[in-house]
Amino acid sequence: MAIEGRTLTVECPCPGTPHEVDTVVFRAVMPLAGGVAGISAMIEAVKALGEAFSGIALAGYIFPVYLAHAIESWTFTDAAGAPVPLADGDRVLPFPVKYSIADAADDLFGAEISSPLVQMIARSSAAGPTASSTSRSRGSGASRRSRSARSSPDVSAVTEPLTG
Ligand SMILES: [Zn+2]
Repeated sequence: MAIEGRTLTVECPCPGTPHEVDTVVFRAVMPLAGGVAGISAMIEAVKALGEAFSGIALAGYIFPVYLAHAIESWTFTDAAGAPVPLADGDRVLPFPVKYSIADAADDLFGAEISSPLVQMIARSSAAGPTASSTSRSRGSGASRRSRSARSSPDVSAVTEPLTG
């Protein structure tokens, strides 16, 4: 498993292993529906998890959004050799493959999806004592590819005003 640019390479999971590897190409930008769904998933996660909030717990809420919205194309085929439609990925692909796809999408889109949420909370708490914690997370977008720029730290930094 490796990601280069917007292309993820995975071991071929297709019936009969017809490919040396398979590739997944992610969209150049997150579609609006996907971004909004991502924000909803994060808010849902914050509400439901409370103190138990963590990156891996957030994945349960947001990873399905990535699988549904973040992918441009892939090379997976079914038993008959026909391309697997993007809409059928969740039904057809083995879980570890889907997880790898969503994890790579989080690296690409996590900061992008969480940024409107971070800004909303920064605005609503601009005069409050938590402003310093939100401004710290807003300033961390230097490297969107780095692990530190994933959605989870951003969201955990902005949960205080929601839960407090
Ligand atoms: Zn394959």
